[in-house]
Amino acid sequence: MITITMRAGGGPDELLHKVEALSEQNLGGCYQCGTCAATCPLAAEMDLLPDALIRHLRFGVPGVLERRMLWICVGCESCTQRCPRGIDVARIIGALRQIRIQEGGDHLIVAQLPDAALREIPAMALVASLRRNTG
Ligand code: SF4
Ligand code: SF4
Repeated sequence: MITITMRAGGGPDELLHKVEALSEQNLGGCYQCGTCAATCPLAAEMDLLPDALIRHLRFGVPGVLERRMLWICVGCESCTQRCPRGIDVARIIGALRQIRIQEGGDHLIVAQLPDAALREIPAMALVASLRRNTG
């Protein structure tokens, strides 16, 4: 008999389960071929490539929600279309953005941001915030 122990209460397993539920993807299906990373047009700008992102989620590596790649990804779905396992990688990243915004309690009022901040904040962060705040 195999016993599986699950952590609870905000731990890394909870993040994995949240991402899987929100994205409706099974991250366990990823066999780490790296195709998603190889096909990403913004790979050079990312601090964590898509295949590594999935690995970090599965192994509970901390700090995933703080990665800039979540906001650098433009949702082009190239990774999703090329994944040999049919995993919607773009949707997984979208789910992480959603969780980050919800857990961070962020509520950006774009019109109130100073020009300097607008130049620094990744465009996807602004778009994701607007999406959330406009339902
Ligand atoms: S392309 Fe698919 S199977 Fe390959 S590493 Fe990326 S998510 Fe995993
Ligand atoms: S959806 Fe994001 S991670 Fe996937 S290829 Fe496009 S930019 Fe890269």
